[in-house]
Amino acid sequence: MFKGIDYYDIESGLSPQARQVRDTVRAFVEQEVMPVIRDHYRAGTFPLSLVPRMAELGMLGAGLSGHGLPGIDSFAYGLMMQELERGDSGLRSFVSVQGALVMHPILTFGSAAQKERWLPLLASGRAIGCFALTEPDHGSDPAGMTCRAVQQGNGYLLNGTKMWITNGTIADVALVWAKLDGVIRGFLLERGAPGFSADEITGKLSHRASDTATLVLHDVPVPEANLLPGAHGLKCPLSCLNQARYGIAWGALGAAMACFEEVRSYTGKRQVFGRPLAAFQLTQAKLADMLTEITKGQLLALQLARLRDAGRLRPEQVSLAKRNNVRMALEVARTARGMLGANGITDWYQSMRHMCNLETVDTYEGTYEIHTLALGRDLTGLDAISEWKD
Ligand SMILES: Cc1cc2nc3c(=O)[nH]c(=O)nc-3n(C[C@H](O)[C@H](O)[C@H](O)COP(=O)(O)OP(=O)(O)OC[C@H]3O[C@@H](n4cnc5c(N)ncnc54)[C@H](O)[C@@H]3O)c2cc1C
Repeated sequence: MFKGIDYYDIESGLSPQARQVRDTVRAFVEQEVMPVIRDHYRAGTFPLSLVPRMAELGMLGAGLSGHGLPGIDSFAYGLMMQELERGDSGLRSFVSVQGALVMHPILTFGSAAQKERWLPLLASGRAIGCFALTEPDHGSDPAGMTCRAVQQGNGYLLNGTKMWITNGTIADVALVWAKLDGVIRGFLLERGAPGFSADEITGKLSHRASDTATLVLHDVPVPEANLLPGAHGLKCPLSCLNQARYGIAWGALGAAMACFEEVRSYTGKRQVFGRPLAAFQLTQAKLADMLTEITKGQLLALQLARLRDAGRLRPEQVSLAKRNNVRMALEVARTARGMLGANGITDWYQSMRHMCNLETVDTYEGTYEIHTLALGRDLTGLDAISEWKD
């Protein structure tokens, strides 16, 4: 059983709730994810059959409160993300999208009827959601989106294309961000709406166990009741992404831990020049560096959780942690891949799968560069990207 990495005794600060959540998700990943994830990654399929179990274990919308949702604290939620991504980034992404990017905006910006209808369905896994902000020509600059809604009768007509949408082909409801009279608004589009199609993006060398789609909207009629009444402007989808990035800062730690554990065990057994690989100073230096970076990342995430629960977390602090922890995990995964030698380029081991996944995690939810610019703006008061103003 995976034991995690805890060089600084973070375990001693766990609440009973956080320990229970961590142990439950850890056992789920060990028993139900690890036996199937390699085959899904090879086949390029999302393990849809795990969704009811994740719902049963309370993972969907776990960090949200009200409407019967569990409302677990930030530490417990972070550990849940860590454990899930220890299995595969695709699973953590699924849970992030469902909770932070679909249930959270419905809870925050939705009407009473929207909350009543969708939250129970999404929490129980009877419905799957996706969050459609990115377009083929607008990723880092979503303000430039060309997806448009126009008023028609008692509703709207939507036109445009969204790309790189996680859960896109399996979603029952898509939260599509589009401009209405020049203002970005959120619309709930249901599967099967006329003029609405979702096509799987093939050829991915990363996030292969995750569903990623292009959504095409051609004169899609959307009733007035499906507009999120409380969402006006880019700050709304960005605030959702901020929630999801919090989970990513923790999730990346799980991927890094998986790689570290794999290579620590491997180098103890692998004989080179008549001795275990772990006996050589260069190997020990790599292990010491990996452990140090993972531990620093854990302490960042831990303080992030404290600030979040105290209601004092700033988006820039989330940017710093997402930027650091994902890049750190990517470096750990690359180093681990190398230490596995030729074995490391296969899927007999996990490190290269995590490494490939982390390339996506480094890109989505704000690239490394975009979070650098967010920090730069915070530090200097000078905005390198004027379009951020909304
Ligand atoms: C597997 C996967 C799943 C995804 N899931 C979702 C989803 O569910 N919903 C969704 O809406 N989107 C999703 N995305 C999209 C993701 O958020 C975007 O890919 C991301 O925002 C980057 O946009 P882009 O790919 O268009 O890159 P671009 O914006 O074209 O950027 C290209 C490069 O230029 C750099 N760059 C951009 N601007 C600057 C600048 N001002 N200065 C210096 N460098 C800059 C970037 O950092 C990057 O390195 C997903 C992406 C992937 C790969």
